[in-house]
Amino acid sequence: SAKDNGRDQYRFYSPELGSTVARRVELERDLRAAVGSTEFALFYQPKMRRDGSIAGFEALIRWNRPGVGMVAPDNFIPLAEQLGLLLHLGRWVIEQACRQIAAWRDAGLGTIPIAVNLSTSQLTSAALPDYVFDLMREHRIEAGCLEMELTESMMMSDPDLAIAILHRLRGGGVALSIDDFGTGFSSMSYLRQLPVNYLKLDRSFVQNCAVDPKDADLCAGIMALAHKLDMHVVAEGVETAEQHRTLTDCDCDLFQGFLFSRPMSARAATEFLQSRH
Ligand code: C2E
Ligand code: MG
Ligand code: MG
Ligand code: MG
Repeated sequence: SAKDNGRDQYRFYSPELGSTVARRVELERDLRAAVGSTEFALFYQPKMRRDGSIAGFEALIRWNRPGVGMVAPDNFIPLAEQLGLLLHLGRWVIEQACRQIAAWRDAGLGTIPIAVNLSTSQLTSAALPDYVFDLMREHRIEAGCLEMELTESMMMSDPDLAIAILHRLRGGGVALSIDDFGTGFSSMSYLRQLPVNYLKLDRSFVQNCAVDPKDADLCAGIMALAHKLDMHVVAEGVETAEQHRTLTDCDCDLFQGFLFSRPMSARAATEFLQSRH
């Protein structure tokens, strides 16, 4: 079964279009009850270097909803945000990632960076940096080992506060990535102000780069821009060797996608690390 092999993909539940109000109420009830329970888990997808070694992992949340099965984040994160549950859940994600970094370190597997995805509510919470630093101290996380991914749209509601939070995080040793880069309302003037280490090139560019030379040129341009700004580029959603080759030629630094591994359970990710240690 999928359980025995964490590397297999879980069959995700996806709500049908036109779901009834009753189902939405049930979802809301279950989601509220799930926060603070053991129904959430982090899955881990590796980010690979050009030489094929593991640079770190991205933590991706899953909800094992009773009576339903594994629910993908796109099917509950927006609702959790609306219900005001994401500050609490997001804090759990950060704590869980810190525990995993510590567990791998203590198992002799080295300091393996883990990136967590942030939400809008976290980027508008002035308390975020302090509790992140508390968790880092508690689990003895080295600078650069905990990473955070945010999208440009998450900064829109209060850009000044978001930028201030990001500077505090960066100053405290948290590495930062712009997620889904190229899809939002990218503002080049913001980009200069952001203390960001990585740009994550959105999967839509990656998909096209191997078939359309114009897209490959665009990718190469983004890499050059990032490198000029002292940022590295992570390609998201690399599925084919062709895409990997094209992106390598474009000077891409890190690669993530099904070509290398699907997101996997903590146990499977540990085995993945051990097999390449
Ligand atoms: P994201 O951060 O951009 O994550 C990338 C998504 O692409 C993940 O979907 C991943 O499983 C998927 N992916 C990776 N490689 C490939 C590939 O080669 N092909 C294809 N087709 N897809 C690939 P997932 O896990 O369903 O997560 C979706 C989104 O949910 C994430 O997008 C992120 O925005 C959000 N998310 C995930 N975990 C968390 C979390 O802990 N907190 C918050 N606030 N959001 C989260
Ligand atoms: Mg991400
Ligand atoms: Mg992304
Ligand atoms: Mg995405």
